[in-house]
Amino acid sequence: MNPELEELYQEVILDHSRRPRNFGTLADAAVCVHGDNPSCGDEIDLGVKFGADGSLQEIKFSGQGCAISQASASLMTMKLKGKSRTAAEEMLHAFHGLVAGESDDAAPSLGDLRLLRGVRKFPQRVKCAMLAWRALEEALRQNAGQATVSTESDFVRPIPDGTTRPGPGL
Ligand code: ZN
Repeated sequence: MNPELEELYQEVILDHSRRPRNFGTLADAAVCVHGDNPSCGDEIDLGVKFGADGSLQEIKFSGQGCAISQASASLMTMKLKGKSRTAAEEMLHAFHGLVAGESDDAAPSLGDLRLLRGVRKFPQRVKCAMLAWRALEEALRQNAGQATVSTESDFVRPIPDGTTRPGPGL
């Protein structure tokens, strides 16, 4: 990463961690997931409300933790609000591929989320970056009610229909 990009990375991450977007409790959420990252002490509560077509009509989070975990959650909610379920699942897999270092070409659809690719050099920080996404994964699986996830449990599972569906650019 060149110094300029590193600076931008810092700036965007810090901005989102200080002023997280879509932050708060979603009163009429269909599903609420509590996520824990014990290795860093990050916590998140993610609420999702689905539209009649199954899209992610509203998505909000609250929580506390390191800058990476909060910025990743903030950027994620901005990116996923209004998106279809399929698009959300594709983004989840594209983002995981990016931060886990499985793909060198970041999907352009990830936008500013690509700035988090720097965490791939630090396995502990990958968990921070993935926390909100693990909660999202669980929210999509549960569809309704309450659930809990931890970064210390299994890694991202395949898309429920059994196929792997790499996002664009993977
Ligand atoms: Zn963290």
